[in-house]
Amino acid sequence: MKRSLRWGLIGASTIASEHMVGAMRANGGDVVAVFSSDPSRGQRYAETHGIPRSTTDLAALVEAPDIDAVYISTTNELHRDQVFAAAAAGKHVMCEKPLALTLADARAMVAECKRRGVVMGTNHHLRNAATHRAMRDAIAQGRIGRPLFARVFHAVYLPPHLQGWRIKRPGAGGGVILDITVHDADTLRFVLDDEPESVSAMVSRAGMGEAGLEDGVMGVVRFAGGVLAQFHDAFTTRYATTGFEVHGDEGSLVATDCMTQQPKGEVALRTADGTVPLSLNHENLYARSIRLFQDAAAGAGAPAATGEDGVRSLAFALATVEAAEAGRGTSIASQG
Ligand code: NDP
Repeated sequence: MKRSLRWGLIGASTIASEHMVGAMRANGGDVVAVFSSDPSRGQRYAETHGIPRSTTDLAALVEAPDIDAVYISTTNELHRDQVFAAAAAGKHVMCEKPLALTLADARAMVAECKRRGVVMGTNHHLRNAATHRAMRDAIAQGRIGRPLFARVFHAVYLPPHLQGWRIKRPGAGGGVILDITVHDADTLRFVLDDEPESVSAMVSRAGMGEAGLEDGVMGVVRFAGGVLAQFHDAFTTRYATTGFEVHGDEGSLVATDCMTQQPKGEVALRTADGTVPLSLNHENLYARSIRLFQDAAAGAGAPAATGEDGVRSLAFALATVEAAEAGRGTSIASQG
């Protein structure tokens, strides 16, 4: 069965140009058209990336008979209506995170895709990383005993070419929590195979975020199985390293250089027997995300991260925002 898809891009975005167009083509897919709100930007984008056509008419893109699936990577306040439009036209949808700005919208998007019988995926790339998959397997095999704590180090420096809506526009879903913590949420859920219950957090505003947007956050979350996880995310740290650790009563997993878009990083397993590296088969994270999505569209399996996963990561992120604002622990279950 032919599984590669003919794609329409909704959003002339950086993530599509830097990662997703290549990931679609690496899986044999065709990128047929791009939707942009700006005709000249759309045209330039299409020419630069060898995309046959650009349009400013969303209906024309989603209804095109030569398109099987859309990839939505506009700013976050636009995702909802674009998912609805694509689903109504019978197109499978890969949507960027955060799915929406409210849980009600995110849930409605998932329900609409289900109702229309189209596949919906959330582009949480980090659960496609060999590092995180190896950690999940090691925990499931009992190699660290009972997991007790996790630590996520995801403070980075937001590159100058991305210092736009993320740090200036609350209405577009800016701020480090909706941008980065939402990924931590998905990666923690995936690696621990557990659900977060409540979160406490504090944010910082070190001068990069505008209009009241936070540019740093530290938080602690309690999982249903009892694990406490801490996370540290920022746009403002030029020299920090990334990492992900899980500490159990019989061992620890220490991953370094893994909260990244690149297929890299290492995981060490530390137990009474000493320290050994986990063997990793690195694969392009976005190519794997597209591969599983197109398999799901062909009826085999599910996207790496489903629409429901996107709802749950958003619930975590919104609870983190609320916890930081209120200065007290906030239930995630009540959001999700
Ligand atoms: P961009 O800022 O590159 O693009 C977002 C929108 O901004 C585009 O749809 C485009 O509108 C508009 N735009 C792009 N360039 C310009 C410009 N030069 N001048 C004016 N407007 C412009 O966003 P990102 O690619 O960084 O993020 C897009 C989405 O992807 C977000 O939801 C984000 O959270 C997500 N993301 C996910 C990542 C992941 O690893 N999963 C990584 C990075 C982002 P139009 O389409 O109308 O032309």
